Amino acid sequence: MPKSNIFSSGEESRPLFNDERSLYPEYLPERLPHREPQISELVYAFKPVLSGLRPRNVFVYGSTGTGKTATVRYVLRELEEHSQRAKSIYLNCFEFGSRQSVLAAITNFLGIAVPRRGIGADETYTKLLEGMKKCKFVPFIVLDEVDQLLSGNDGSKLLYDLLRITEYGKAYFGLIAISNDFSLSANLDPRVKSSLAEQSIVFERYSPKQLKDILSQRSSLAFAEGSLEKDVIPLAAAHAAKLGGDARIGIECLWKAGKAAEKEGAEKVSVEHLRSAFSEIETSPGRKLLKHLDENQKILVGILVEKDRLNSGELFREFNSRSKKKITDRRFREIASELAESGLLKAIPQVKGKRGKTRVFSLAVSKEFAKGELENKP
Ligand code: ADP
Ligand code: MG
Repeated sequence: MPKSNIFSSGEESRPLFNDERSLYPEYLPERLPHREPQISELVYAFKPVLSGLRPRNVFVYGSTGTGKTATVRYVLRELEEHSQRAKSIYLNCFEFGSRQSVLAAITNFLGIAVPRRGIGADETYTKLLEGMKKCKFVPFIVLDEVDQLLSGNDGSKLLYDLLRITEYGKAYFGLIAISNDFSLSANLDPRVKSSLAEQSIVFERYSPKQLKDILSQRSSLAFAEGSLEKDVIPLAAAHAAKLGGDARIGIECLWKAGKAAEKEGAEKVSVEHLRSAFSEIETSPGRKLLKHLDENQKILVGILVEKDRLNSGELFREFNSRSKKKITDRRFREIASELAESGLLKAIPQVKGKRGKTRVFSLAVSKEFAKGELENKP
């Protein structure tokens, strides 16, 4: 008799999942049901590149979980598979939130090494132009969550920089800006606005019926056949529809329900498993807090997602360099203290040289979690 092991629990039950990775947020499916019109619009915008012409710049907008990121990534993947001429770079402006960081990332992508810090944006811009001249392909630049960039003060300058060189010498590139915010363009220079949005593509919220199709498709990849009770998908779709037509919520609920069923060793994922997933998703305290942040609080949390830990003075300076509206040191301390009291931030007192005490701030929730929540916030 072979020695038993705690990981092999005797009789192996049939696995519920075929491949749970296809429910992960970053998974990009082969098909995106109900996004055919948006896909054709993107194809239309990008197509000129195949005949040696400049692609149209696209402004994509719509609320969270409507498939904006997935659809743009999907069409670019197809384009890059089809043609050697196109290569894309994807930048999420939560991570690349300043003019310099975006310019440096693009310049590096063009094959010219620049450090992300220690060199000025104007100098980087010169190098970017140099890179454009030598470039043998057409770069497609995706600026996702572009509203983040525009909440800082040099973001619109960056857009201006980029649009100015959309066609530079014989070189050109395609720009795709993605936003959750419908009114984003209100505070932009009209010239920037019109060249940014040569083509605007709206992503409507999904209806319950559409969500049902999407969830069926995703779960047929993820779950073994017959693993779901028949009411599970309709209920998950109804829930996601109620919470704003957000496909991400539906997919996440299915995954959590599947994990709960798996843990219990259940034969099928039931409606009860799904309901427990709903409440788990809604009651998580960090998530609740993150859902209700105002502009100032969002900027502050965004900084700490990026920088891990900063003392009070550093955080204050960084805040004012990103926020359009400057605040006083006193107001800043109020905001930071509120967030610390609510349990979203840690504030550790520290003695700092002669000048006395300071506090070192960091996130009290996981970075991935905070980042995910901020990105999903319209
Ligand atoms: P947005 O960028 O608009 O917030 P995402 O593109 O991140 O939305 O989509 C949220 C989740 O829903 C992702 O996991 C994505 O793969 C999935 N999704 C969205 N639309 C579809 C669709 N039409 N078919 C399949 N999956 C979809
Ligand atoms: Mg997105």
